[in-house]
Amino acid sequence: MDRRPGLASAQEHAAQYLWRNMTAIAQLNDSIFYFGELGMQEYETAALMTGLLEDGGFRVERGIAGFPTGFCATFGSGGPVIALHTEYDSNPDNSQQAGVVEPKPIVEGAPGHCEGHNCNAAVLISSSLAVKSAMAAFGLKGTLKVFGAPAEEQLVSRPYYVRDGYFDDVDAAFAPHVGSEFGCGYGLIQSALISAIFTFHGETAHAGVAPWKGRRAPNPN
Ligand SMILES: [Zn+2]
Repeated sequence: MDRRPGLASAQEHAAQYLWRNMTAIAQLNDSIFYFGELGMQEYETAALMTGLLEDGGFRVERGIAGFPTGFCATFGSGGPVIALHTEYDSNPDNSQQAGVVEPKPIVEGAPGHCEGHNCNAAVLISSSLAVKSAMAAFGLKGTLKVFGAPAEEQLVSRPYYVRDGYFDDVDAAFAPHVGSEFGCGYGLIQSALISAIFTFHGETAHAGVAPWKGRRAPNPN
């Protein structure tokens, strides 16, 4: 047992929960790795994640904001409202055998988790269950909202959760994302992005021969 000095009792409880369930967390991580589902197709992954949260005492709302593989799981009531959110989509043509440093797909051309979203999802589920366990054991007041957000790579889902009011009552939000090292950071290090298609109505023209035929796209007049 790795006991870290200075942790409050509830924090110590959550840390012990994670150590105690280390094998199950690794299995969850590996299961999502082998599902390797692309964005908007994370059906097995979302079913596994929501099942674990439901078994752990969360109220689960599936298919939120029109996303079949999106979900919001809630525990507790009142404030503060703390949100944890993550993605679990794989990348196209990223199939890769685990523990092998050179490119070696499991299935040639298949999607895979080379960006590590399987780790993000396993961290989200395990930390949510650990915090919930501490809240229940120590009578901590507040609401924990756990968001599963499909298709991080397409920049969809979370902006629509905001649009539909799922974050209206949230006081603080945390999101895990695996990096190149096994460290973790915190603070305002995330970007707010949304995907959109722009059509520019300009006209191209040769700058030396017929520049008068050109029209600037932002201001076509
Ligand atoms: Zn990512």
